[in-house]
Amino acid sequence: MEISIVIPVYNEEQALPKLYNSLKKVLESLQKKYEIILVDDGSTDRTWEVLSVLRAKDDSLKIIRFTRNFGQTAAIAAGFYHAQGEVIIAMDADLQNDPVDIPYFLSKIEEGYDLVSGWRKNRKDSLKRKFPSWIANWLIGKITGVKIHDYGCSLKAYRSWVAKNLHLYGEMHRFIPALAAWSGAKITEIPVRHHPRQFGKTKYGLSRTFKVILDLITVKFLLSYATKPLHFFGLPGLCSLVTGLAICLYLSFLKIFFHAQLAQRPLLLLGVLLLFIGVQFISLGLLAEMNMRIYHETQKKPIYVIREIR
Ligand code: UDP
Ligand code: MG
Repeated sequence: MEISIVIPVYNEEQALPKLYNSLKKVLESLQKKYEIILVDDGSTDRTWEVLSVLRAKDDSLKIIRFTRNFGQTAAIAAGFYHAQGEVIIAMDADLQNDPVDIPYFLSKIEEGYDLVSGWRKNRKDSLKRKFPSWIANWLIGKITGVKIHDYGCSLKAYRSWVAKNLHLYGEMHRFIPALAAWSGAKITEIPVRHHPRQFGKTKYGLSRTFKVILDLITVKFLLSYATKPLHFFGLPGLCSLVTGLAICLYLSFLKIFFHAQLAQRPLLLLGVLLLFIGVQFISLGLLAEMNMRIYHETQKKPIYVIREIR
C-alpha cells in the first residue's frame, strides 16, 4: 500500500457522494496503490448507510464505525492506526479541503519532508471563525516554537511513522505539527484551496477557542517538562530545604551554646518557612513524577471504541 487517505466523518451524509467521486478521480490519476479510510464518529444521520453502500461496491474503502461520538481527534487517531500506506493523507469530509491538492502534498513528501501541512491562504469561513484561529495560530507558534501559519488545516500528508507516533487524545489534532516536530519530523507547509461548507454546518462553536488555549498549556508542559517534573520542582525545593535547614541549625547552635533568645528573631520564621516550602516543593515534584508515569502508562489505553469495521 502506498497511500492511505484518512477522513473523520460526523453527520456528513450529504457531502459523502461528492467527496467520494472527487477523491476517486484524483487517486485513480496517481497510478498508485491506495486505500480510503472513513471513520464514522458516531453520526446520527444516514452517514453509516451511505458509507456502507459505497463500501459494498469498492474494495479500496475501509469504513470504521464508532459506538458514539468520540470527537475528531479520536476519529483521526483510529484512521491512523488502521492505515497501511507509506504515506497517510488526512482531510475533512465536508469538501472544504480539495482532493485536487493531494499530488502537491505527495511531491513534497518525495522531496524528503515527513509532514506536509496545508495552509488555507484564502480561508472560506466566517470572520467569527477566522479571528480566533489567527490568535490561536500565533499563540501556538509562539509557545511551541513551531511556526507555521495554519495549525487548524486538516489537510496534511504524513510519512507513516509520523502519524503512528503522535499519541493523539483530547483535542490534540490541533497541535499535530508541534507534536511531530518533537518526534523529529521535517515539516513544511503548502498553500491549499479552501471552499465554503456546501452541506450541513460546522461541528464547532466559539467555545473551542478556550479549550484550545487550555490544551495548549498542557501540551507545552508535556513537551518540555513532562519527562522530568521532579527536576522542575525538585531543584528549587532542594535549595529552599537546604537553606532552611542551615538557618535552623545555626539558630539551634546559638540557643544551645549561647542561650540566645530566639522568639524575637525574624530569621527563625524565615528558616522554618524555607524548610516547609522545600518539603512541599519536593513532594509536589514527586507527585508530578507519579502523574507523568501514569500518563505514560495510560498511553496504551484506547481513546475510542469501535463497533464495526468493513
Ligand atoms: N468531525 C468528527 N467528529 C466531530 C466533529 C467533526 O469526525 O465530533 C469531522 C467532520 O465530519 C469533518 C471534520 O471533522 O469531516 C471537521 O469538522 P468541521 O468541518 O465541522 O470543522 P471546521 O471545518 O468547521 O473546523
Ligand atoms: Mg469544515
